[in-house]
Amino acid sequence: MSFVAPAGISLSLRDLVRGGIRSLHSEARGRLETQLCDAAGRSRAHLVSSGRAAMVWALEAMKLAAADARRTEVVFPGYTCYSVPAAVEIAGLVPRIIDVDPTTLSPDLDSLHRVDFSRVLAIVSANLYGMPDELLAMESLARERGVFMLDDAAQSMGARLGGRPVGGFGDMGLFSFDKGKNITTLQGGALMADSDKLWSAVVEAGSELLDDTPAATVSLLLKLPVYVVMLRPHLYGLVRRLPIGLGLTPYDTGYPIAEFSRTLTGLASLQLERLQELNAVRIRNADRLRAHLRDVNGVTIPKPLADSEPVYPRFPVLVDPGSRAGLISTLERAGIGATASYPKAMVDVPQVMQRLAPDQRETPGARDVAARIVTLPTHGYVPAELPGRVAALARAYLGTE
Ligand SMILES: *Cc1c(COP(=O)(O)O)cnc(C)c1O
Repeated sequence: MSFVAPAGISLSLRDLVRGGIRSLHSEARGRLETQLCDAAGRSRAHLVSSGRAAMVWALEAMKLAAADARRTEVVFPGYTCYSVPAAVEIAGLVPRIIDVDPTTLSPDLDSLHRVDFSRVLAIVSANLYGMPDELLAMESLARERGVFMLDDAAQSMGARLGGRPVGGFGDMGLFSFDKGKNITTLQGGALMADSDKLWSAVVEAGSELLDDTPAATVSLLLKLPVYVVMLRPHLYGLVRRLPIGLGLTPYDTGYPIAEFSRTLTGLASLQLERLQELNAVRIRNADRLRAHLRDVNGVTIPKPLADSEPVYPRFPVLVDPGSRAGLISTLERAGIGATASYPKAMVDVPQVMQRLAPDQRETPGARDVAARIVTLPTHGYVPAELPGRVAALARAYLGTE
C-alpha cells in the first residue's frame, strides 16, 4: 500500500550524482559554509557530523569562553528533541527546563523569567516543526543575565522571526542535515557564530573533533540512494514496517563528535540552493492542512508567533490525549504518516529526570503538548488531496469515538 512518509525531502538519484560531483570541487566546503552563514545571518560556520555533535561542541566552546566553572546549567524548553538533554549530559552540564506554551509551542516566557540564572551557562531554543520560538525575548534575557544563547535551528532552516533568520539569534546557531530535517545528507550538521572571542573558543574546543571516517562516509553513500528512492509513497509503504529504526528518537550519548564527510558537501550545498523552493512546498501544504483542519472539532492548531515565518518540516496539531493513538492509527491505515512526535516531556524522560537542577519546577504545558501532539507530513510527496482526506478522517474519528 502507498504510504506518505511523516517527513522527508523529495530528491532524485540525479541530485545525488550532481551533489557528488559538486563535492569534488576544491572550494565545495568553503562554498557550503558560506551558504550556511547566509542561511543563519552569521559570519562563521563549521560543518560537523550531526546536529547533536554541533550542540555538544557549542556547549564545550561556551564552557571555555565563560571560564566560570560554577556555570554548569543549560536552560531549554520542556518539550524538545531528546538529543538536546543528551548533548547537555555529554558536555558534563546540568539540564534546567522551562515550560512550553501549548497555544504556540514556544517556551513559556513566565517560566523563562522565573529561572534562577546564577548557575546558568546558556539558554537553548527549540524552534520545533520549523516554528520560531520567542527568540527575541530569549536573546535579550540571555544578554541581560550575561549567559550565552544557542539558537537550535535543527528543524527551522529558512524560518524567520521579525525578518531575522532562525539560527541567527543569540551567540551561536546550529543546523541539522539528518533525515526529516529541512535539508538532508542523512547525517550532518553545522555550528554558526559571529563573535571572534567565541569563535576562538569554538576552534579550541574543535581540536577534539574526530576525523570523518571512510567507513561512515561509505555507509551514508550506500544509504542515500535507498532513502531517496524509498521515500516515494508507493515504496515507503513497503519499508516502513522493517525494523530499521525509522522515526525513533532515542536518548543517545554514544555518538562521535566528528568532522563532516567531505563527500556530502555537494549534496548539502545543492539543497541549500533550493531551500526556498523546498520550504515553499512545505509551507503550502501546511497552509492547506490548516485551512482544512481549522474547523474540525477536537483539533487545535498551534499558532505561530506574530511576525514569524515558519517553514514546517512537519505540521503539528493538538488533539485530546485519549483520542491521539486512535487518530494516528486511523491516519496510518489510510496511508498517511502521522506521528506522536517525541513521546515524553523532558521532565518525564528518566535519563533527564535523574540529572535535573535541584529546584526544577513543574512543566505542565510541556506535558500537555507531549500528550496531545500529532504531526502531519508536508514534504514534496504529499498529494494535493491529503489535507482534505486528513480532515475527513479526523472529523469522522473524533466525532464518533
Ligand atoms: C534533530 C534535532 C537535533 C539534533 O540533530 P541531529 O543532526 O539529528 O543530531 C537537535 N535539536 C532539535 C530540535 C532537533 O530536531
